[in-house]
Amino acid sequence: MIQIKGLHKKFGKHHVVKDVNLTVEDGQVIAIIGPSGSGKSTLLRCIDFLETPQSGVIALDDFTVDVTKASKRDILYLRRNTAMVFQQFNLLKYKTAVENVMEGLVTVQKMNEKEARVTANTYLDHVGLHDRKDYYPRELSGGQQQRVGIARALALNPKVILFDEPTSALDPEMVGEVLAVIRAAAKEGRTMIIVSHEMSFVREIADRVVFFEEGSIVEEGTPEEVFRQPKNERTKQFLARVN
Ligand code: ADP
Ligand code: MG
Repeated sequence: MIQIKGLHKKFGKHHVVKDVNLTVEDGQVIAIIGPSGSGKSTLLRCIDFLETPQSGVIALDDFTVDVTKASKRDILYLRRNTAMVFQQFNLLKYKTAVENVMEGLVTVQKMNEKEARVTANTYLDHVGLHDRKDYYPRELSGGQQQRVGIARALALNPKVILFDEPTSALDPEMVGEVLAVIRAAAKEGRTMIIVSHEMSFVREIADRVVFFEEGSIVEEGTPEEVFRQPKNERTKQFLARVN
């Protein structure tokens, strides 16, 4: 289970994440929707300290980190137990698909090379890339690169996978293959937080939907509640704009 309490992030005077409280149970999929610039990426990035929050508490199972007192060990723990799937894939250019998946297993999880290769191969098979393992990112389509990114996250076997608009950088014809891989991961019971503008996908896959605006959670509920009967006027306006 992941729990975020009273989280704040400022960039200088710009208060981007304002007192966010969020709980994700094991095996749940939480979708975060909301306008561009509202702080969704920053919120995800605070969870693994890619951004340093000003205050709040982040807990993964019974490991609780007060962000104002986070030690190197705490940050390492959060990083080892979470994985991020980025909008721009963020693959290592000079490494092949299999080497990209192996990287975190070897450097962060201290797995030996041989075992890491076996694991990486398994997950690349899993995302349908059995015939692309030795390709470099530039030799892969966007959809294939993102599937490598997802294989990399899955292979780490984290407590939670954080997806930051995983299909936003893709050509439309490649969105489906990536969503299929995410859907399969959800069905396997992976715990995930997904920021996405793919409303029909969110509706289908999420256990809970969070509407985020100007750094705060405005409304949250089941997809049915948020999409069919939004309570908040701002949620209604946002949904009317995107649908
Ligand atoms: P979203 O993902 O919802 O589009 P972001 O979290 O990327 O929103 O950004 C929220 C706000 O924080 C924006 O105004 C953005 O310009 C600002 N911001 C994001 N990252 C930084 C940064 N590293 N330094 C300064 N401002 C930032
Ligand atoms: Mg973003």
